[in-house]
Amino acid sequence: MQPLLIIYTGGTIGMRTSSIGYLPGEGMQALIEETLPAVALAQLQPYQVIEFEHLIDSSNAQPYHWLEIAQCINQNYAHYSGFIVLHGTDTMAYTAAALHHLLGKNIKPVIVTGSQIPMCEARSDAANNLLEAALFARSGRVSQVCLSFAGKLLSGSSAKKVHCSAMSAFDSPNHAPLARAKIRLIFTDQTQPSSKPPSKTFNLPSLDDKTVSVLYLYPGISDALINAAFLGQDIKAVVMLTYGAGNPPGENPCLISALEHAQQHNITVINMTQCYAGAVSQGTYAVGGRLDELGVISALDRTLEDVVSDLYINH
Ligand code: ASP
Repeated sequence: MQPLLIIYTGGTIGMRTSSIGYLPGEGMQALIEETLPAVALAQLQPYQVIEFEHLIDSSNAQPYHWLEIAQCINQNYAHYSGFIVLHGTDTMAYTAAALHHLLGKNIKPVIVTGSQIPMCEARSDAANNLLEAALFARSGRVSQVCLSFAGKLLSGSSAKKVHCSAMSAFDSPNHAPLARAKIRLIFTDQTQPSSKPPSKTFNLPSLDDKTVSVLYLYPGISDALINAAFLGQDIKAVVMLTYGAGNPPGENPCLISALEHAQQHNITVINMTQCYAGAVSQGTYAVGGRLDELGVISALDRTLEDVVSDLYINH
């Protein structure tokens, strides 16, 4: 059996306390060996750990970090049966979505996970999350990038951090989990046993210097804020978070001229709902009537994490 490769990038899972708060800590391999009971270690075997030189709190993650993780998977792809990416929870959903866009489907399992409480502390959820990620990776049912957390296996492109203190911190509001870790692993009908994924080399893109703006609309928003999102330098796309079914304040002249500017300058504008769940239905209400004409694209039911990472990688 080929081993699993555990790629440790930072995050609470390996953090230690310090006088200024939790900081990423080195030595994941030793931490796993010291913390997990023998029976759990035996279940995890065979595995190897690669630890990134610069471990981060994932709040500091940037698009180039997504690429570094994908490059690590690419370089090691032939030698492992699957990959577990240990990551901070704060931007874990962005990284899972980004890896999905970078690596595609029909691949060896890539499972992103982490924990709410550091592995070195009592009551930590780290060991369970790690073991469940390993079980999912070895199940023969996963051939894509997924996020596994607190017993739920979510598609990498539809996961969201939905709670900052509950152990069950992730969900995919518009899609049922692909599987749950109960006494046994329970897969939904959509996940068929995967055929052996072909060995491959990934063609990873290089990222340009352009940025993606996210504009959260609200009653009272200033023209300055709208203009900063649309007119700033090197903006390649704007994700506009609108009300309900994708309704913008259609009588705001600044927003309308910003949208016209975007259309004239080939800046992609995506219309995404601020609602937790559901899909944009652009133009249902008269206030959003001009959006189609202005070239605004509906995000439908995609998550912000999915859309932002897609725009950075594929646009
Ligand atoms: N701030 C941490 C991080 O995202 C939170 C966590 O891992 O749970 O790295």
